[in-house]
Amino acid sequence: MELDGRAVRRLFGAMAATIAAHAEELTRLDQAIGDGDHGSNMQRGFDAVLADLDRIAAKPLPEALTALGTTLVMKVGGASGPLYGTLFMQLGRALPAGAGLAELATAGDAALAAVKARGKSNTGSKTMLDVLAPVLAALRGGDPATLGERLPRVADAAADATVPMLALRGRASFLGERSIGHMDPGARSSALLIAAACRAFGPTAKGDAA
Ligand SMILES: [Mg+2]
Repeated sequence: MELDGRAVRRLFGAMAATIAAHAEELTRLDQAIGDGDHGSNMQRGFDAVLADLDRIAAKPLPEALTALGTTLVMKVGGASGPLYGTLFMQLGRALPAGAGLAELATAGDAALAAVKARGKSNTGSKTMLDVLAPVLAALRGGDPATLGERLPRVADAAADATVPMLALRGRASFLGERSIGHMDPGARSSALLIAAACRAFGPTAKGDAA
């Protein structure tokens, strides 16, 4: 995880690009079981990250992650701003400089615990946690060389698995049984961000376009 400024730029740029490309889809998902603002909220947050990317990418990875989280807290709003903000801020705080995969997983544990505390939630409630927890588990197992293809598959399957769930947290929980049959928007955006992060470092990763 010793990422230079170019790599941080590629990582955050890929995350912003996938949110922009899927903003309408996220909004449609949120219209079904929420208030329909998840796509526009997330896009506003990542647009702000892009606008500040020179400053953010000049920092070492842990500080860059914290800055990403701070920007998302300030710009995304709704429920997902504080939750994504907490995720990235805590990940940045818990990640030592020059960390390897083991330290990334440990920092991921701390970030996941912080999101659970912030949202007073846990897995099984039809939230982003239902994607983040299995992805973190997969980060610890198997061949590190195949993580880049495995993690997006795990994330997609986990987001799909929120469809039959009953929402127990957030606005969707007000719908009760009517929340069943729809994918959780936060689970989908989490899966998108994970896939983008893996693509940014996969064998087919394109060079820094900026
Ligand atoms: Mg919403």
